[in-house]
Amino acid sequence: MDIEAPGETYDAVIVGAGFSGLYMLHKLRGMGLSARIYEAGTGVGGTWYWNRYPGARVDIESQEYSYSFSPELDEEWIWSERYATQPELLRYLNHVADRFDLRADIQLQTRVAAAHFDEGSNRWAITTNRAETITARHCIMATGCLSVMNEPAFPGADSFEGPSWHTGRWPREGVDFKGQRVAVIGTGSSAIQSIPHIAAEAAHVTIFQRTPNFSVPAHNGPIDPAVAKDWADNRAVRRAEARETGFGIRGVGQTERLAGEASADEQRAAYEERWAIGGFALLGAFADITADLSANQTAVDFVGSKIRSIVKDPVTAEKLTPRTFPIGSKRLCVDTGYYDTFNRDNVSLVDLVDEPIEAIVPTGVRTASATYEADAIVYAIGFDAMTGALGKIDIQGRGGATLRDAWAAGPRTYLGLMVAGFPNLFVVTGPGSPSVLCNMAVAIEQHVEWISDCIAWMGQRQLGTIEATDAAQDEWVAHVNEVAEPTIFPLANSWYMGANVPGKPRVFMPYIGGFPVYRDKCNEVAANGYEGFTVSSDAR
Ligand SMILES: Cc1cc2nc3c(=O)[nH]c(=O)nc-3n(C[C@H](O)[C@H](O)[C@H](O)COP(=O)(O)OP(=O)(O)OC[C@H]3O[C@@H](n4cnc5c(N)ncnc54)[C@H](O)[C@@H]3O)c2cc1C
Repeated sequence: MDIEAPGETYDAVIVGAGFSGLYMLHKLRGMGLSARIYEAGTGVGGTWYWNRYPGARVDIESQEYSYSFSPELDEEWIWSERYATQPELLRYLNHVADRFDLRADIQLQTRVAAAHFDEGSNRWAITTNRAETITARHCIMATGCLSVMNEPAFPGADSFEGPSWHTGRWPREGVDFKGQRVAVIGTGSSAIQSIPHIAAEAAHVTIFQRTPNFSVPAHNGPIDPAVAKDWADNRAVRRAEARETGFGIRGVGQTERLAGEASADEQRAAYEERWAIGGFALLGAFADITADLSANQTAVDFVGSKIRSIVKDPVTAEKLTPRTFPIGSKRLCVDTGYYDTFNRDNVSLVDLVDEPIEAIVPTGVRTASATYEADAIVYAIGFDAMTGALGKIDIQGRGGATLRDAWAAGPRTYLGLMVAGFPNLFVVTGPGSPSVLCNMAVAIEQHVEWISDCIAWMGQRQLGTIEATDAAQDEWVAHVNEVAEPTIFPLANSWYMGANVPGKPRVFMPYIGGFPVYRDKCNEVAANGYEGFTVSSDAR
């Protein structure tokens, strides 16, 4: 197909210019196809463009949380820290956009409002908030798993007289907290990363906690030269090793030993060793931590003992200790000085189990017990995960059926990549794929490569459409549930389950069967002529 005028018609439209969209565009252009990205933000970078809160950084070691598709890119980009900061990640993604000359095919400040499949032409009509309609053979949703914020639903939120910010929409110029009394609502990953920074600056920080989370130290610092050399010398091998692990993270260092095979002293020693390494390594101490509740409890007890040893006030330590869900059933937080921050005189913790928030008032936050005065509020209340961004777009497939209706009882996909009834609509890291249970850089590359291979396969055969069959989708959804069911994951009220958004169906959304199993299944489907999909020829 010839490249036609921008804004009119393309082989593929890609929605979103984060990790997924940038690589997708690069791949499709490399195949000689016309493609264009539409991105709501004023810059590229996705997550790392929007989340500029103090302390924002990756929770997987930088060497591993980066693209592997270009050995040249991999060699020339030198990460400065073990866990890169948001500014460094944003520089990296901008460098990728420049290095692969992607910007000419990226339209910023453009939100896709609707995508309708036209059965007459077998093309998608994509409408933006600029009243443009673009048509494309393929529509690729690279809209992100964590790109739609939860809006504060507290009564009176608009009445607050001071400034308030959501960690996911942090102002570019930063925020000066000096001399301020700051209320931070939420204790998830973004809060855990930002609270130590805010507390170091503000006059006082009051933290409102609904559910305590497990957090482990990052032990961040400059990249160890020996580690950097090892990566430089063995890059391809190290990347391949990461792809063979269940979570796409080499640093977890998963063992095969079961917790029950170790004595209490050996368990403690294993956890101490992992705590000293930092990050997700703790979850790799025993093979059954995320599979068996009694094994899991040994890790829960260990982290609880660490919290009590760091936090001096026993009442605060008790409040900070998670008791209601297994460790790992929510994404483990990785911090720098989080628990220590509660030893500061200018930090206090309000447990919302004891005193729920009743309202935001002009001067602060009112709970069932007291009003906490604040000059500024930080909402660290997370995201409408995995389905949020797709739910905001009016997506209509065959017969005008809407994705919103198709997913009313929870998302249903085949392989997390396609949805029955929505031909040529691809989702990068959709629900039903490992996505957020994985190093997302690894998950994204695999999806982008599968999608581009599929599109190339269609092109070679001059096919007009490909779509998942209902039977294949039903079977996959059943499999996703079946593998999640015996694990600890559905036991938490987590955003994996949609539990942090009122009214959202409770469905375990990511695929927990492990990245290599999933990838092999995707490869097998493709090798068998896209088994579970139907195709139509391109008669037009
Ligand atoms: C604070 C934070 C920290 C994280 N840390 C890690 C980590 O340490 N490790 C890890 O593996 N993952 C992490 N993640 C997950 C992270 O989202 C992924 O790693 C990765 O960046 C996702 O890339 P993406 O391109 O798929 O989505 P995103 O980066 O979310 O990009 C999607 C883009 O699509 C745009 N978009 C959405 N809807 C529309 C629309 N209708 N029209 C136009 N544009 C639209 C958005 O503006 C956004 O720019 C983190 C997420 C957050 C929020």
